[in-house]
Amino acid sequence: MAGRLIVISNRIPMGESISGGLVVALHDALGCSGGIWIGAHPDPGDGDDSLEELGTSPYQRLAFRLTEEEQNNYYLGYANSVLWPLCHRRGDLVEMRSEYETSYRAVNARIARIVSRIAEPEDLIWVHDYHFLPLATEMRARGLRNRIGFFLHIPFPALGDLSVLSQPERFADDLAHYDLVGLQTRSDVARCLEMYRADPRAEFMPDGSIKFLDRFTSVRSFPIGIDTKGFAADAAQEAVNPFGREEPGSYIIGVDRLDYSKGLPNRFRAFARYLETRPEGVRPCLVQIAPPTRQQVRAYQDITRELEEIAGHVNGAFAELDWTPIRYIHRAVPRAELARLYRKARACLVTSYADGMNLVAKEYVAAQDPENPGVLLLSRFAGAAEDMTEALQINPYDVEEVSAAIAAAFDMPLAERKRRHAACLEIVKKTDVTIWSTDFLRVLMRCKPFAVPEYLGMRSIPDPAL
Ligand code: UDP
Repeated sequence: MAGRLIVISNRIPMGESISGGLVVALHDALGCSGGIWIGAHPDPGDGDDSLEELGTSPYQRLAFRLTEEEQNNYYLGYANSVLWPLCHRRGDLVEMRSEYETSYRAVNARIARIVSRIAEPEDLIWVHDYHFLPLATEMRARGLRNRIGFFLHIPFPALGDLSVLSQPERFADDLAHYDLVGLQTRSDVARCLEMYRADPRAEFMPDGSIKFLDRFTSVRSFPIGIDTKGFAADAAQEAVNPFGREEPGSYIIGVDRLDYSKGLPNRFRAFARYLETRPEGVRPCLVQIAPPTRQQVRAYQDITRELEEIAGHVNGAFAELDWTPIRYIHRAVPRAELARLYRKARACLVTSYADGMNLVAKEYVAAQDPENPGVLLLSRFAGAAEDMTEALQINPYDVEEVSAAIAAAFDMPLAERKRRHAACLEIVKKTDVTIWSTDFLRVLMRCKPFAVPEYLGMRSIPDPAL
């Protein structure tokens, strides 16, 4: 690569904090390729255009600071109370306020000013996620002609749902300022293309790229993955037993930020239903790690309360003096410890109603002992389900079905567990995070730079090879 790689994402690693799929994935990807990572400092500041150096090894990390108002309006407001529910099919949770959108646009304009100041003409720019949909629009307005790629880590919204936005037509326009739009799954690509098909400003070119007004963009799926080998190595390490003397017998594990998109209440209900029907004497346990997230947003306060109530009811109804059915841990657990918890778990339960990919599903598979693997119960609404067809796929809305799948996981013969695990592991390896980032950057590098002669009447040309 001639220039540097500049990555922009909302979160940036501070010390050892690695909770959240994006941070885990990018930490590994940038470590290999070198470059600059720009992201938001977790502490508030006065919202000026300065950047703070967080570290230079193995790549440069630079942080901008949001004001408290921007934290409320741009981050908790527009990003997480409008775009997040919109993309996760929860239009009912969208909170429309004009100050949210104003702040979102203003923060994007500021980051564009900052990047324009430091980017060299040959640098590749890789923008991550829904916090920065209009960033390319703002960077182009400041004359940046670099190749700019965008990756959306969450589901692409359904066309009809976009009408929730105050100016739905800007969504397609903002995305078309990127040379390459990367999405998690083929279904996401299908939804994105449907949006452009319905837009009279867009035209499909014979090479598959999209001409939008005077610009060209390409839309592709790049399913994100994990550091497969690293995870397997962590999982296989013999370390202090995380349960101490209180080790449960056979257990199922769930690991999710406490988000309404993860289907946690139905997961607990399905486990309770399974307990009602389990054979005499069997005392399995559900270990649920659910660290808090976005607790200032009302919808997250509601789901936390709901989940605690259900856990209380289930444990009250089924617990015995020496057995607690649901072990609910409402805080983050370090990755290496998670890996060991996954390995010992008989099954992993993923019940998302909508999920960009779900890295937990891939981590669980990578952490298993191939000679005695556990069973992945995977929501068919998680991006991971598109390729991991040999997981036990479940409909998280159907409590009876999930409960039956839990029973099937406990009863599954070794030969079937091995066969399903081997097929899933193949997918996990094929979509390793290094392959994901390499593929994305390779395709982005093949995009023609933004500037072309004026006499062509357009400002960029698609690469016929794409
Ligand atoms: N994670 C973690 N500690 C926790 C809970 C989660 O390190 O206590 C990590 C988990 O290992 C995974 C990521 O957070 O890598 C969650 O990613 P996923 O794609 O499953 O969901 P997201 O949080 O991005 O919606």
